[in-house]
Amino acid sequence: MVDQRSRVCDVAVVGAGFAGLAAARALTAHGHATTVIEARDRVGGRVHNEHLPCGTALEVGGQWLGPTQDAVLELLGELGLATYDTYDEGVKLFEFHGQIHRYRGTIPRLNPLTLADIAQTQLRLDRMARRIPLDAPWNAPRAHRWDSETFASWIRRNVRTAGGRAYFTLICEAVWAVAPSDLSLLHLLFYIHSGGGIDRLISTSDGAQRWRVTGGTQRIAERMAAELGDAVELGRPVRRIAQHHNGVTVDADGLQVQANRVIVAVPPALSVRIAYDPPLPGYRDQLCQRYAQGSVIKCMAVYPEPFWRDDGLAGQITSDNGPVKVGFDNSPPDGKPGVLLGFLEGNQARELARLDTAMRRTIVLDCFSRFFGPRASNPEHYVERSWADEEWSRGCYGGFLPPGGWTAHGPALREPAGRIHWAGTETATRWNGYMEGAVRSGYRAASEAAAARSGIQHPGR
Ligand code: FAD
Repeated sequence: MVDQRSRVCDVAVVGAGFAGLAAARALTAHGHATTVIEARDRVGGRVHNEHLPCGTALEVGGQWLGPTQDAVLELLGELGLATYDTYDEGVKLFEFHGQIHRYRGTIPRLNPLTLADIAQTQLRLDRMARRIPLDAPWNAPRAHRWDSETFASWIRRNVRTAGGRAYFTLICEAVWAVAPSDLSLLHLLFYIHSGGGIDRLISTSDGAQRWRVTGGTQRIAERMAAELGDAVELGRPVRRIAQHHNGVTVDADGLQVQANRVIVAVPPALSVRIAYDPPLPGYRDQLCQRYAQGSVIKCMAVYPEPFWRDDGLAGQITSDNGPVKVGFDNSPPDGKPGVLLGFLEGNQARELARLDTAMRRTIVLDCFSRFFGPRASNPEHYVERSWADEEWSRGCYGGFLPPGGWTAHGPALREPAGRIHWAGTETATRWNGYMEGAVRSGYRAASEAAAARSGIQHPGR
């Protein structure tokens, strides 16, 4: 017989990712008793450190922070953690139409027509994005028009050069981990605005890839969980949430939690794998049926040192050919060991996820060797994580909506279902899809749940 424990608290939180932990921490700080119920045997969700035999942490999930990600930066300070700069020195490599181009700074050297096309398109997308209200994209002036087409059809009609079309396809795969044909134009514009513009999303020196966390980002989750102590229950997948006139009952494997309210801090696609009694309203379920996760396999090859730096290379690659389309020098601050990071994204991830690790290793190392020479084919270690295969994530970096999603179902995203509140980066208005969005969503849901309990308290932002 399975051991079944029970707990009673004020607010139950489902999911110990950044959103759930941030919510529980904010609630606890304001005197509300919480229980965080996590399916995995670890905290952090889409943020996970693996460790090499030498002890170096390799982040197989979320890793970078950037300017304007103020909630998570403030949290780092509170938790006593530090950042360091992403390695961004030397010559970067850009493979386009079979040729590898070398460049410094942020813009690859392409022909002037292509560069002008890219600049003009980016300006236009940024301008359109600023017109999207972040808390209600469905109310944008052209919401229905922009939600009725994919980014692919928009690119076909509006980007003039082959180079420009290839560039924005690459950006789409790198930022959303999907093909342009997957994505509603309205979702793309919302997300651009949410992160503060295309440059902010893609830049290393002044954007979302600027900083890394000493010891790895999972430490943020581990320190939040340590503060919460035995309020965090690991290895307890939540299967059912029942609402009564005076509270909720959350049933997980081996655990039942009675609470006044519950915050579900898991991606929308996973939130509907939980059974609800009474069932969720159809509009909420149908939103979740559409809010799919992107596809990424994050791959790292580990060498005794970052040998590419001796050749003046930054270790950063972009390629229209792939299968690694975006790569970075992911070495720790002292450069020991040297780590090359490559992302398989969107359709590449979908196709290559069907292969075994040994075959993927060969394909990824062949790709690294094309850019960095034969030494790249002999790493000491190869580490990868296919996020669609993770039972409790089912994809990353974040969720995305296809055409029609925002305008038909958007208002259901954050609307509580009785005593159930929704958190998770997919519900964020700022930095949706990022760790920052997750933390902000946790604070917002904590605030909602506390206000609903007492009618007066607002612990979060
Ligand atoms: P999650 O982290 O998904 O947390 C949800 C939690 O709920 C998980 O722990 C899960 O196990 C649990 N759960 C699910 N179902 C149940 C259930 N039924 N019962 C109990 N528990 C359940 N962001 C950045 O800011 N910078 C980056 O550089 C970056 N790179 C990324 C690279 C990769 C490869 C990945 C995977 C993500 C990346 N991200 C990055 C995105 C970032 O990691 C996420 O936005 C963020 O971690 C999401 O946090 P969350 O709490 O909303 O969701």
